[in-house]
Amino acid sequence: VRAQAMQIENRPAVGYADIGGIDDQIREVREAVEMPLVDPERFDTVGIEPPTGVLLHGPPGTGKTMLAKAVANETDATFIKMAGSELVRKFIGEGARLVRDLFELASEHEPAVIFIDEIDAVASKRTDSKTSGDAEVQRTMMQLLSEMDGFEERGDISIIAATNRFDMLDRAILRPGRFDRLIEVPKPGPDGREKIFAIHTRGMNLDDDVAFDELAEMADEFSGAEIESLTTEAGMFAVRDDRSEVRMSDFEDALAKITEDDTAADPVAF
Ligand code: ATP
Repeated sequence: VRAQAMQIENRPAVGYADIGGIDDQIREVREAVEMPLVDPERFDTVGIEPPTGVLLHGPPGTGKTMLAKAVANETDATFIKMAGSELVRKFIGEGARLVRDLFELASEHEPAVIFIDEIDAVASKRTDSKTSGDAEVQRTMMQLLSEMDGFEERGDISIIAATNRFDMLDRAILRPGRFDRLIEVPKPGPDGREKIFAIHTRGMNLDDDVAFDELAEMADEFSGAEIESLTTEAGMFAVRDDRSEVRMSDFEDALAKITEDDTAADPVAF
């Protein structure tokens, strides 16, 4: 169960240069995670405690996981990922056990970055129903907080959590000494989309007529993940046509296809 629930990567192959349009967020993550590791005296001199945990919040597919991976990579740390939904278990005590295992695994692989995705699964505002399921989720969250309380002696472990549902979070997890550094990761604006297009077409053989600024305009409201799918889809059109270069019209076709799929299927999925 443990091996499945946790995903471990040594120095994930993602760097800051692979993340487009969220430079401020990159800087904030570096200040919160990298600086305490590399230059703890800075915090001492000013007389403040470095943040305990970082919470990234914002819409799906905007680069939250990438940010956590990049900071692990750039600090030569092991990246350990766990989905919050995995911590919601059937048997009493199982979730708490997994949390203990998670921190144990991290201490065996220091320096390490623990990344908990979908933190809302274990840290939502309490519902009214007093079912045993809720109590169990509550215990799992308490275990997480208690692991974080013991952080100072723990050494080089950073903890980053992410959620798409900030408004649902139990505010208890945001207190000082817990997830006390909040970083919002929004959908990219036009400039950001342009950069993300450039990043995701780096390895592609592009025709001269491909203009990133026009693409950015066409892909209004797209997240980074959606831009990535669009570029792949555009490449598929070129492949189908047996061409080696991807043209602007391929991107237009891809956009039409994706928008069509979108109206046909679940509008949230794309
Ligand atoms: P979720 O909330 O759904 O877990 P997320 O915010 O963690 O999403 P990521 O997993 O970081 O999103 O992004 C998914 C993929 O989308 C990435 O692997 C990357 O290819 C692309 N992507 C997302 N945001 C960006 C970005 N800002 N720059 C470049 N690529 C991006």
